Amino acid sequence: MDVGALLAWYARVRRPLPWRATRDPYAILVSEVMLQQTQAARVVPLYERWLERFTDARALADAPVRDVLAAWSGLGYNRRALALQAAARAVAEHGWPAPERLTDLPGVGPYTAAALASFAWDVPVAAVDTNARRVLERRDGRRRTARELAQRAAELLPAERAAQFNQAMMELGATVCRPRRPACPACPVRDACASQGRVDEAPRAGRRLRFQDTDRWARGRLLAALVAGEPPPLLEAARRERALAGLESDGLVVRGADGEPRLP
Ligand code: SF4
Repeated sequence: MDVGALLAWYARVRRPLPWRATRDPYAILVSEVMLQQTQAARVVPLYERWLERFTDARALADAPVRDVLAAWSGLGYNRRALALQAAARAVAEHGWPAPERLTDLPGVGPYTAAALASFAWDVPVAAVDTNARRVLERRDGRRRTARELAQRAAELLPAERAAQFNQAMMELGATVCRPRRPACPACPVRDACASQGRVDEAPRAGRRLRFQDTDRWARGRLLAALVAGEPPPLLEAARRERALAGLESDGLVVRGADGEPRLP
């Protein structure tokens, strides 16, 4: 792969996302956790509001759970908010772990730890998210295990520009080497790519379940009502029970002796 061409392309086209303009590990951790299952455009306003409300790890650590969940509203997968608060509590109490121990923080897996180490402290480690993974696998024309991907990315990583390389790979996967219809003619690494112009388009699955019909939607509505102190939505009994059981196992609600849910 022509890493120089990749970095030059990134410098030219990168989106000015707010978390790319900071080296504050707390702000970077917030952005990484928010981005885990939510698109960047949707994260931006919520990320900015979050940092105004919870300015540092101590502020988040001390905040009531209700406020944390209310600020998370709109991002989905609410247990991420609790994990982020648990990580903030650990940092507020003990300080940041050494870069190689970042996975000790609640909710911080190998990818998030690598991204945080690279973006906040310039540690030369490769951070391979789903976008970077797609680029690497298409470029080499083969599927790889997580271990192989980490090794492959480490081989390509320029030690003195690790953060830019990681950002560039993710940006390429998000905007050019997209899951469907990759823009190969605009790709800076097309010359070395085994899949250029030959990405198979998997046929779209048949009719998909409407979001309102999923248990995830029911969990979100129940939790939003609890956070807002409003009456719960009317749900069919079995669905309500499944949704509450899911919220309970995620640690987002507890149930009293009467079986009614409340915030922890
Ligand atoms: S040439 Fe196409 S398939 Fe290969 S990395 Fe670039 S966008 Fe992806």
